[in-house]
Amino acid sequence: MRDWLKREPIVIVEGDGAVLTDAHGKQYLDANASIWTNLHGHRHPALNAAISAQLGKIAHSSALGFANEPASLLGERLIAAARLPAVTPPPASSASFQKVGAPLPSVPPLEPELTKVFYSDDGSTAMEVALKLAYECARRSGISSRPRFLSLDGAYHGDTVGAVSLGHIDLFHKTYSGLLFETEKVMAPYCYRCPYNRAAPQRADARDYRMCHWECLDRVEEKFAAANSEGNPIAALVVEPVMQGSAGMIPQPSGWLRRVTDIARAHGSLVIADEVMTGFGRTGGPSLFACHQEGVQPDFMALAKGLTGGYLPMAATLTTNRVFDAFLGEYDEFKTFFHGHSFTGNQLGAAAALASLGLLQTPASAQARSTLAEHLRAELRALWSLPQVGDIRIAGLVAGIELVRNWQTREPFDLRERVGIRVCEAMASKGVLTRPLGSVVPLILPYCLTAVQLRKIVAALATSIQEAVPMS
Ligand code: PMP
Repeated sequence: MRDWLKREPIVIVEGDGAVLTDAHGKQYLDANASIWTNLHGHRHPALNAAISAQLGKIAHSSALGFANEPASLLGERLIAAARLPAVTPPPASSASFQKVGAPLPSVPPLEPELTKVFYSDDGSTAMEVALKLAYECARRSGISSRPRFLSLDGAYHGDTVGAVSLGHIDLFHKTYSGLLFETEKVMAPYCYRCPYNRAAPQRADARDYRMCHWECLDRVEEKFAAANSEGNPIAALVVEPVMQGSAGMIPQPSGWLRRVTDIARAHGSLVIADEVMTGFGRTGGPSLFACHQEGVQPDFMALAKGLTGGYLPMAATLTTNRVFDAFLGEYDEFKTFFHGHSFTGNQLGAAAALASLGLLQTPASAQARSTLAEHLRAELRALWSLPQVGDIRIAGLVAGIELVRNWQTREPFDLRERVGIRVCEAMASKGVLTRPLGSVVPLILPYCLTAVQLRKIVAALATSIQEAVPMS
């Protein structure tokens, strides 16, 4: 806070496409898509028109006990968009990363169908809704009388108290431990710093998995088995699918999500997918949702950030008929889900979300995302030559560049050295904005970014690393 008070902040007054302008007229590329929210760029004509048209009708009326048109239409569109595509086998590259004796099932297990939508305001509330629904559904359906949740080391699911309870980043969460309920934690597949990783550090995109035996999945199995033997099974597994964001942009190896979901389901557990960061095409491929890249359909899918194209605070929690039915009853049974926010189902947000989905679901948008993802991978390759770069992690249009003191030993920088902050400040002076996660510099691209703008971002990152973290 003293650092914040010491200097004048960058005051953004305008945006256009991937460019932000501050109060002095200086321009910046929005290299973290305005904290991972913006999809199609700022001041997009289609989104602006949809919001203006909605403003001509009404900005907001309560959805508690009432319905409205755009939120209802959006619910229908979200359910259709979140339908699991028929064929989504894990990529063939995972073949070399299969645990002996644990091949991928040739017939995928029956996945649940997401048929119901509950609106709220942001990623944290979308997760609170999933948490509360799962808790009560687990109690009512006899899974557990004291439902417990299992989430990953490094998990971040928001800043409200329930979401913080699911989180496992000590720096953010430990202070509040007295306020929180206890959740179970299991190791995440953070391959770069995996305690079982016997491969030498590499200076290339392809990771060497030859000596991996999926020990991380054994730890998950053990957690479920231990909970069952204690007589209090895990009610729900909570994951950020494909890429853990705030933990430092940590992608899961191909096949991990499929297998971890199968383990959870084999133990009768529900699956909560936090797609707040990954949803709406962020992690690449033709699917809009990260889970679908592995043929996984969760029991709960939390959406926010990109839901409105990054224009307005609105969130949705998608779930199944099974969960819905657990709350279905006559008035005097008082089984309803007692949860509702003032701005639930907000019309302006829903209008923006409908317009954003319309853009996302065009073949041109899918093609542009795929081309941009290829460019990102190609551009970042140059950073491997910098000794400060320990790891480059990419999933679609999201990347995390982990800076280290010694790439040969993977020795990290101390947080107090503020390496990530220094690099991001240097980038800002060169007209590129992003926000560090410790010593990891994240890049989250607006889908409208051009190849030239991308090159400028990566060049600013490379120069800033060399300037802000000189190595002798
Ligand atoms: N879940 C994930 C995976 C997130 O990345 C975030 C925000 N960074 C949240 C939940 C919380 O979202 P919000 O900030 O909109 O409350």
